[in-house]
Amino acid sequence: SHVSAVLDELCATVEDYPSEGIVFKDLTPVFADGPAFKTMVDAIANAFEGSFDAVAGIEARGFLLAAAAAYATGTGVITIRKAGKLPREVFAESYALEYGEATLELHKEDVPAGTRVLILDDVLATGGTIGAAAALLERSGAVVAGVGVVLEIEGLPGRSNLADYEVVSLQKV
Ligand code: IMP
Repeated sequence: SHVSAVLDELCATVEDYPSEGIVFKDLTPVFADGPAFKTMVDAIANAFEGSFDAVAGIEARGFLLAAAAAYATGTGVITIRKAGKLPREVFAESYALEYGEATLELHKEDVPAGTRVLILDDVLATGGTIGAAAALLERSGAVVAGVGVVLEIEGLPGRSNLADYEVVSLQKV
């Protein structure tokens, strides 16, 4: 498809980042290209057309996708942040990383109960990050309308860890 061709052309692959043996997919050249960025955001938003009231982005690259998709569809944008960044009362969810753990937070009062929320992030790997985001939204009383990512890393249990949700990836790598 057109979006796959755009990603093939512009997505960078960095070996041994952030540590030896890891192959890191870098989408910043896609974000930096106007037509490519629009193609990518529209492809994700269109996959869930009419099924969401707000778009949640996961700090930090997910914010870029979520803000653009929300603006394009006239919906709200919800910020799911790393621990310690939000000033009011939060829900917090911790999840395992390869080494150690991380915590995401969401303001308790940002999402009205029943809001249908589309979760966006750049890359789906193990699904830990998006799983924590989904748990935060559900604790708020929101309904997860779906999960959209640009790249899905194959050979990891990301999709099976998110089996409760409709997961759309623009490309498998
Ligand atoms: P997961 O929690 O294992 O699914 O990892 C997904 C999170 O790590 C997302 O927030 C991604 O931004 C980040 N991530 C994992 N692998 C990559 C990659 O190759 N490129 C960019 N981000 C990545």
